[in-house]
Amino acid sequence: MEKQAILAAIIDSSEDAIISKTIEGYITSWNQAAERMFGYREEEVIGKHISILIPKDRLSEEDMIIDCIRHGQRVQHFRTIRLNKDGHPLPISLTVSPVKGADGTIIGASKIARDISAQVRAERETKQHLENLELLISVGKAISEKLDLESILQKLTDITTRLTGAELGAFFYNIVDDMGDSSLLFTLSGAPWETFEKFGMPINSAVFHKTFNGEGTLRSDNTLAVPVISPSGEVIGGLFFAHSKPGMFTEEHEKLLIAIASQAAVAIDNAKLYEEVKTLNTRKDEFIGVAGHELRTPITTIKGYLQLLEDQTPEGLTKDFIEKALRQVNKLNRLITDLLDVTRIHAGKLDYTIRPCSLTALVKECIETVRQIHSSHVIESKLPGNDIIVIADSSKIEQVLINFLINAIKYSPGQNKIVVQVTTKTGRAVVSVRDLGMGIPAQHLQNIFNRYYRVNNSQHVIAGLGIGLYISKEIIDRHDGTIWVESEEGKGSTFYFALPLFT
Ligand code: ADP
Repeated sequence: MEKQAILAAIIDSSEDAIISKTIEGYITSWNQAAERMFGYREEEVIGKHISILIPKDRLSEEDMIIDCIRHGQRVQHFRTIRLNKDGHPLPISLTVSPVKGADGTIIGASKIARDISAQVRAERETKQHLENLELLISVGKAISEKLDLESILQKLTDITTRLTGAELGAFFYNIVDDMGDSSLLFTLSGAPWETFEKFGMPINSAVFHKTFNGEGTLRSDNTLAVPVISPSGEVIGGLFFAHSKPGMFTEEHEKLLIAIASQAAVAIDNAKLYEEVKTLNTRKDEFIGVAGHELRTPITTIKGYLQLLEDQTPEGLTKDFIEKALRQVNKLNRLITDLLDVTRIHAGKLDYTIRPCSLTALVKECIETVRQIHSSHVIESKLPGNDIIVIADSSKIEQVLINFLINAIKYSPGQNKIVVQVTTKTGRAVVSVRDLGMGIPAQHLQNIFNRYYRVNNSQHVIAGLGIGLYISKEIIDRHDGTIWVESEEGKGSTFYFALPLFT
């Protein structure tokens, strides 16, 4: 008897609801924790069917549980939902065990239900935090990776809309153009801007003005507005969010957005700078283009007169001087052509006239041209006996080869041998120019074909613009060819290009 009393006391002091029921599901006992958890008093539920606690869509669970009990099995830590007296769902963890009669037959079941709403809430919050963290990381990544303003802003709007759970989000920002005119642009996420008007946020609303005045975050029942302020203090724009359900925006959202907004402001500033640099770069190219054309006209005239004079001047010192002057004019011409080519490549306007041509003849001609200009070096050539035909713009390939040759001479002071070789290999013609000059340190090799890239050499100061190889690579690439270099510092360099053979 005493044992019985102890058991009853334990059951009543338990924090978990302990309920017993018949095998048919009728409630036979109900402890105090069950009263607190479900809201029914003991006398209200004794004799009632257990299904009063079960949501309609989960009634089949009871059949499954009873089935286990009938077979003498336990159901342990089964996470499910039950209803309290008010019909509110209650997340619980359920353990059900069979109750046996004196003869050992199963006559009912005991149920222990633990209220796990706090646990479920904590799990949901952790999941939410994790999702927020992932979104935050993705916003950080997106805005630090992308440099173009529009995609940064769209990403920012999309992610912050998801982060706040808003039905619609927008980022409004001011752009000042070249002429100093400012215009208001926006990116949207979720729904069209007109929908904001429903929430009292038309473009000329107080919320809008306050945000653009940088007055801080404004949070109301259905809306949230956060100014995006650049490190220099200028208001770049504002993030606006709306939800048809009131109270969806929390203080936590507000804090999160302020942090994101300041991070985004820096990225937006950078993107704006990048756009400015791009514009200036295009202007610079345009300027070089115009200046190049202007320079070329008088040079063509000078060259014409010099050639006339050369023809009419007998051999001697004066003719020598004229030839020297002509060489310099030609050099100037090449420089201008290169500069113009760079701007054309940039604008995608370098034109090609591609037709079959003899590579061997072209190589001979180039060697001849360079021999005339530079007598300092001996140019040896190793050409195959047969004619090698490639499909190419011959003047452009000449430009590449002359550039290789002049570089070989320029970068091998004190060495006077250059070897030009033409071979064929697996359907391609390979042209190489080898010098025994200063070579290129290994760490520079991969950049040598980049625009304006030059190797600083403390021993030799050699003038140049760093565009010859860049143009050469563009030209060879456009021919579906390959360009490369092999070099060892102090021992010389071999520059190669390969072109598909005409078959
Ligand atoms: P530039 O000669 O006007 O500087 P290039 O684009 O033709 O421009 O060459 C880029 C850089 O590559 C040169 O500044 C030089 O440092 C290096 N280079 C090119 N050809 C050679 C070579 N044959 N030997 C050593 N260095 C070379």
